[in-house]
Amino acid sequence: MEALTQYRLQRRTLLKGLGVIGLASLSPCFFTTGKANAETLRRIPLKLSDYKTYRSTCAMECLHCNLTAWVWQDRLVKIEASKDFNVKCCLRGISRTKWVYHPLRLTQPLLRTGEKGEGKFKPITWDDALDRIEKEIRTVIAEQGNEGLLITTHAGNMDSIKNDMGKAFFDYLGGSTKQIGSLCCAAVTASMTPMLGLRYADTRDTIKDSRFILCWGNNPAVTMHAYWKNYAEAQKNGARIVVIDPRFNETAAKADEWIPIVPGTDIALALGMIKIIVEEQRYDAPFLRAHTGAVYLVDEQQKLLRQNPDDPDSYLVFDTLSKTLVRHDSAGIVPALLNEELPPDSPYSTVMSEIYRQAKPWTLAKVSAETDIPEHTIIRLTHDYTTTTPSMIVQNMSGAQRTEFG
Ligand code: SF4
Repeated sequence: MEALTQYRLQRRTLLKGLGVIGLASLSPCFFTTGKANAETLRRIPLKLSDYKTYRSTCAMECLHCNLTAWVWQDRLVKIEASKDFNVKCCLRGISRTKWVYHPLRLTQPLLRTGEKGEGKFKPITWDDALDRIEKEIRTVIAEQGNEGLLITTHAGNMDSIKNDMGKAFFDYLGGSTKQIGSLCCAAVTASMTPMLGLRYADTRDTIKDSRFILCWGNNPAVTMHAYWKNYAEAQKNGARIVVIDPRFNETAAKADEWIPIVPGTDIALALGMIKIIVEEQRYDAPFLRAHTGAVYLVDEQQKLLRQNPDDPDSYLVFDTLSKTLVRHDSAGIVPALLNEELPPDSPYSTVMSEIYRQAKPWTLAKVSAETDIPEHTIIRLTHDYTTTTPSMIVQNMSGAQRTEFG
């Protein structure tokens, strides 16, 4: 008990925290309990003032739609998209009233009584469940410290509220071991931060402004269907939608072109396209120099060079005007983009040249053999993507994600 005092962990606090998490785990949205029957439904009032409304969210890890819950006499009777949210929720979100009152919904903790996989459980009370969890947490902290607690969260129905609540709760206990990256979004996490400076960049409102939309291993007509309207609007405005996917999926059915690909070979296609883009100079050099990490220098150990090791943002670049190494955000510089602009004896390389080094072996013939996409299609796709602008790649769970080297 003494050891735990330092973590300011009180039983009441713990129970409160776990109670909230437990509640959230069971409640995909705002909910109440009660018995549904035809008589109740017949008595539902018609006057809007008889209802209470609550703002909530759909916890699904697709669009995190903002929902409004309509409640009458402590009973959830209707879910609708919040009026001021920029997309409409889907039927899955609206049907949460049915989830909440479904007879098969788990509403009580179950304790496993058999071996794993045997399917033997017995119902226990919430108090019993919370006591057991509390005991386990206290034991782990006492025996191993907070590092003994591992928080692993992510996709599916566990995202928009519960992940962060769980993390906050364990941080309150004094911290826990967390995983690096993510089980489901490693490629996006790895690419978004260096490109845009943050992991989450909501681009849904810019879709309609695109003129070339490459849905790469992604099926937004289904998986982002609440704002598929933005894709449809882009298409109406003259945008071309191209789908790269092994399956002729729902988006492919609405797209201007479907490019089938051998599953798991998307990275070969991406490298082949990068090779063409670099060799034909189809990139926006001023933009890359001014706004991206393509100009950062890496050493022979592939480590990014920094002016100050304690300052993570102090990346060094080679200024082609002063012929010196300077911080990337210095005023009045023109950073080298490719190694050809570095001094001949430079021990460093630019990120852009490192990317090209990876792409260079991926000749058209090699990419075509790997992906089963004809060479002329690869060339045309790359040319269309780089000339029909503004263009965007819609890539989420597939393609580079959950793929070796993705
Ligand atoms: S699109 Fe549907 S399932 Fe996804 S968050 Fe919105 S309402 Fe929920």
